[in-house]
Amino acid sequence: MDDALRRSLPEVGLAPQDIINELKENRSADGDWHSGRTWSLVYHESDDHSAFLKQVYTEYFNENALNPTVFPSLKKMESEVVRMTTDLLHGGPDACGVMTSGGTESILCAMLAYRERGKKKGIKNPNIVLPKTAHVAFHKAAKYFQLETRLMDIDDEFRAKVSELDRLVDNNTIAIIGSAPNYPSGVIDPISNIGAWIGKRDIPLHVDACVGGFMLSFLPQLGFATPEFAFSIPQVSSISLDIHKYAFGAKGASVLAFKNMDYLEHLFFVYTEWSGGVYGSSTLLGTRPGGAIAAAWGTLLKHGKDGYLDLFRRIMLATERMQKGIASIEGLSILGKPDMSVFGYNSTEKKLNIFAIADQMQKRGWFIDRQQNPDCMHAMVTPNHDSIIEEFLIDLSECTQAVRSNPELAFNGTAATYGLISDLPMRKMVHNDVVKYMKQMYAPHPVMPDLEGKNRPVAQRLQHAIGKGFLRLKNLI
Ligand SMILES: *Cc1c(COP(=O)(O)O)cnc(C)c1O
Repeated sequence: MDDALRRSLPEVGLAPQDIINELKENRSADGDWHSGRTWSLVYHESDDHSAFLKQVYTEYFNENALNPTVFPSLKKMESEVVRMTTDLLHGGPDACGVMTSGGTESILCAMLAYRERGKKKGIKNPNIVLPKTAHVAFHKAAKYFQLETRLMDIDDEFRAKVSELDRLVDNNTIAIIGSAPNYPSGVIDPISNIGAWIGKRDIPLHVDACVGGFMLSFLPQLGFATPEFAFSIPQVSSISLDIHKYAFGAKGASVLAFKNMDYLEHLFFVYTEWSGGVYGSSTLLGTRPGGAIAAAWGTLLKHGKDGYLDLFRRIMLATERMQKGIASIEGLSILGKPDMSVFGYNSTEKKLNIFAIADQMQKRGWFIDRQQNPDCMHAMVTPNHDSIIEEFLIDLSECTQAVRSNPELAFNGTAATYGLISDLPMRKMVHNDVVKYMKQMYAPHPVMPDLEGKNRPVAQRLQHAIGKGFLRLKNLI
C-alpha cells in the first residue's frame, strides 16, 4: 500500500476523468458487496433505490445542518424524520429527538445526556448497566465519558437476564440498556420485563434499536410474534435507531429519540463566550452533512408503510431460507432464536472449527464476519442477498465438509488466530496487538494488517505461548 501512496499534492491538478478512473482501479481488492458477498457494513436495497438516494442527497450536497436557522428546510426534514420515527416507536405527543451521523453517535449522545442528568441529581461515580451482547459503542461511550460498565449475563437464547439487575443496579446507575435486537445474535432483550423491574424507580431505560428497530416495528403486521420494545413500555426513555441500516437511507443517518424534552435537554451544548459568537449544538458533530438528512427523509417517504412492509416481507423470507439451509448442514446451527434478519451461526461439533469454515468461505470470495463468546459467524440479510443465498449455502456446505475431512485447517489461516484469542489469558496480548495494528495502519507509512500472513504479531506470540506451554489447544481441536 505504501509504495503507491501519494505524499504530496499533484503540482498540477489532474483531469476529473483520470481521477474517476483511478478510484475505480483502486477498489479491485474491496469487498464485493454489490453481488451480496459481504454480510455486514452495506445495506443495499437495489440499484434503483441507490440512484434515488444519490439524487436526493445531491440536492442537499452543500447544505450544513450545523445552524438549522440558516436552512429551515433542512430542519424541517430532520423534524419530520424524527416524528415519523417516533410514530413507529409508539412515542407519545411529547416524544422528541435529534438526527445524528449514525448509531455510535446516537449512543454516545444518549449516554452523555444521562451522565449530565445523573450529575444534576448528584451522581458522582456514574455507572451504566448493559447486557453482555449490547453494542460496543456503549463501551466507547464509557471510555469517552468515564462511566463504569456493569454487564448483565445472558440466557441460553442470548437475551439479557433481568434478574441480574438486582445485583448490578445501585444509586449511581445513570441508565439501563437493552437491545432490540442485539447485533451478535439478533434477539430482542426482554425490554418490558426490564421496564417492569424499573417500575417507579427514576432510572432511564435506553433501547438500542439501531440495527433493527425500524424493521421490527413492521414485523407484527407480517405475522411475526415480535415482543414490545419501544415507547409503549412506559419506562423506556430513549431509543437509538439507524436510518442508514434497515430503513435503507444513505450513510450518516440515525435517530436518537427521547420520551420527552426532560431527557433530551441534557444533551444540548451551549457556549456563550466564544469570540465566534454564541454557539448551541444538539449533537457531537459541528458541521452536519445536509445530504444524509435529505436522503433519510427521502427514503422514508419513498417507501411509505406499504413499501417497507413489502421489503421486510422479502427480507424475512430470504432470512428463513438462509437459516433453514444453514441449520440443515450437519454440524452447523443458528444461535438462539433470532427475532429478525440478523443472526449468528456456529458449529455444534468440537472437531468442526467454525473459523476454519470461515477461512474456506473467504477463499471462495465471501467476506465472513467472525464473532466470539461463543465462536461463530454472523450474517445480516438484505434484499441484495436474495439471489445468492442458494450459492452461499452450497459453498457453506462444501466448506463445512472440507473442514470436517481436514480438521488441521483449524491451524491455518485466520482460524488459529481467532480460535486462540477467545482464550481469556490472551486478552491483554490481543489488546496490545490490535493497538499495534492500528498504529501501523495510521502511521505515516501505513501498513494494512495481514491476519493470514506469517508476520502477524498475534499468531507469532500465540505460537510462542503454545511453545512455552502457557496455552492449551482446547479451542482448536
Ligand atoms: C450498527 C449498530 C450500532 C452502531 O451503529 P453505527 O452506525 O455503526 O455507528 C449500534 N447498535 C447496534 C445494535 C448496531 O447494530
